[in-house]
Order: sequence, then structure tokens, then C-alpha cells
Amino acid sequence: MRARAVVDLAALRANVRALRAAAPRAELMAVVKSDGYGHGALPCARAAREAGASWLGTATPEEALALRAAGDTGRVLCWLWTPGGPWREAIEADVDVSLSGMWALREAVAAARACGRAARVHLKADTGLGRNGCQPEDWAELVAAARAAEAEGTVRVAGLWSHFACADEPGHPSIAAQLEVFRALVAQAEQAGIRPEVRHIANSPATLTLPESHFDLVRTGIAMYGISPSPELGHPADFGLRPAMTLSASLASVKRVPGGHGVSYGHRYVTPGPTTLALVPVGYADGIPRHASGTGPVLVAGKWRTVAGTVAMDQFVVDLGGDSAAPGDEAVLFGPGDRGEPTAEDWARAVGTIAYEIVTRIGTRVPRVYVGHPEGTGN
Ligand SMILES: *Cc1c(COP(=O)(O)O)cnc(C)c1O
Repeated sequence: MRARAVVDLAALRANVRALRAAAPRAELMAVVKSDGYGHGALPCARAAREAGASWLGTATPEEALALRAAGDTGRVLCWLWTPGGPWREAIEADVDVSLSGMWALREAVAAARACGRAARVHLKADTGLGRNGCQPEDWAELVAAARAAEAEGTVRVAGLWSHFACADEPGHPSIAAQLEVFRALVAQAEQAGIRPEVRHIANSPATLTLPESHFDLVRTGIAMYGISPSPELGHPADFGLRPAMTLSASLASVKRVPGGHGVSYGHRYVTPGPTTLALVPVGYADGIPRHASGTGPVLVAGKWRTVAGTVAMDQFVVDLGGDSAAPGDEAVLFGPGDRGEPTAEDWARAVGTIAYEIVTRIGTRVPRVYVGHPEGTGN
């Protein structure tokens, strides 16, 4: 196999249990958007369910419907809607839908009427993130319209919710400010007669560091995959988390070259002396950032190497110096770190991004290989 992303489902299950222990009074939503942050939505959703996730969360309705098509029957919330979205399919599939404004409520109600079944909705408030969500000034109108729709039986308000801007920076003044607005908007909705099953605002960093934000449900993404929401917050192990994904490739070529040999497009690396070059057969088409040219870390032949020269579409080179290796030997780009390999966080630091992006962008050409299936399932 040229390359593989091995996903340890036992680690993922243990991470879910650690997060549930961190938020003992709340239910847990396993966020599996964007193909489970690149880990594979369906196997990760199953593993999270096994470890006690009573909710799944996706961005798009299509992602939620794919979970249903694969046989998931538990609660699923999707939140990123655009006009003309598959409201009717979502309602018929018993998927919870998020509404951030009146246009969305109108479309959900119309679809509910058409299929003769109430839409289960979560009203989303913008408490300060400035992204999706209903502005506080418009909240009363949305709440009143949702109540009216409940009265006619086309809607059931199952949730009231919001999302943090800076939960990964403990003590940031926006955190307390958002919580205060959230509490006020929840109270306003409850005074208007809304009786939500779940109130929720916490993402991974809030789940790990901010108990007062847990309410009835926490929505964890990155931490479930064993990655810290930010290096400043701590290492995964500080929270009892373990990275689930290991990305590796088999060397496609190992050869001796003289000093002064240009390497890869643009000759941005030139061998300082006679040396051995190893070819790692993954590139930017596989999600290896081109920004890793000259900076990305890789474990080859027992040592950290650095990407030599430019990352190409399908491959990059590392300089082994005086060391030897053979075609087929393993190059580990990132993993949990306990075999001495870099982590996704090391890659994020090397290329100036966040670890969320490193794992999520791994391309479909890299097969996912699942290990750590539950005992006795035989697969
Ligand atoms: C992605 C997302 C989450 C999960 O965030 P993490 O930081 O990965 O835990 C939670 N809620 C919403 C609305 C999201 O879009």
C-alpha cells in the first residue's frame, strides 16, 4: 500500500469516554462533519455511539442523511443549511435541524406540512461569534414564530444553542460575555413557552476547560479524535486523549546522489554533499500542505527528517544524510507520537495552521484502515 491513514477506533472510544467523564452531567454529541475530520464519518460515528455518544453532529444535511443511509438511528443534528436544502428528507429521516433565522423556519415548516410530520428543530443564537445564528435583536421574532409552529404541530423545538468564538483561549473576555447572552436568550425563549430538551454551547475546548458551559449537551469534534484544540491548552495526554490517526507511506525510492544535486520542483533544496534521498509517495493531492516544503517533519529510518524541497502533487523527498533505508520502508508523517513520530500538531506548527486542518484535509486517495474494533466483532 502506497500510503495509509490508520484510524484507531479503540483510541476514539477511549477519547469519547474521557470527554464524557469531563462533562458528567451532559450528554455528548460526537461531531463527525467533514468525513469525521478526515477520519471517516461512519466508522467514527459507530465507535462514538459504542462509547456512549447519544448524539451525532454534522455541518450539512447531506452528511446527516448519509449517517441515516448507513443505518444510524440515534439523534443527529445538522446545522449548515442554505435555502432550498433537503428539509423534507431530513424531517422524514428523523434528523434534527438547526434554524438561525426566519427563512429557515419558513422552509422547515413548509416541508413539515408537505410530509405531515413535525420538524425537530434547534434554534441557534449568535451570542457573539458573528457567524451563523440569530442575532439577539431578532430572537424574539424567531422564538414566537417557532412557538406558533409548535402550536400548529409543524415544529417541535428540541434545542436552544450557540457556538463559542474563543473557547480555546481560557479567560478570553468573550467567553463569559457569550455565556451571559446565551443564558439570557435561553431564559427569553423559555418565558415564551419553549421547552427544549437540550441547551448546548460547548465545543471541545469548552468541554475540557469550562464546566459552566456544559448545560445539557456538549458537542465535541477535535478532542474526540485525540487532538488538543490548541497547543496552548495542553497536550492531548493532559486530558487523557490519544490521537486516533496515524498517517504513513511506503518509501517509493531510495538512492545515492552526489553533492550539489537539486531536489524537486524549483530546486529549492540542493544536497549539501553526497547523500541518500528517499521518496515519500504522498503530496498535496493527498492533503500534504505545499507549505510543508522545507519544513514538514517525517519519521524515516528512526529519525525525524524534514521535507527536502517542494511538496509536489503526489510525492516529496527527504534527505537521509548518512543513513540508509530501503524502498518499502515506512515513513510516518504523524501519529500519536509514542513511536517517536511527529504529531498532527507538529505538522500544524511547521506549516502555520491548526491540527484540525492537517487531519481534515487528508485526501480520499489515502485509504483509511481501521483498527481497534470492539472485542468479538470479528472485523
Ligand atoms: C465543528 C463544530 C463543533 C466541534 O468543534 P471542536 O472544536 O472540533 O470540538 C461544535 N459545534 C459546531 C457548531 C461546529 O461547527
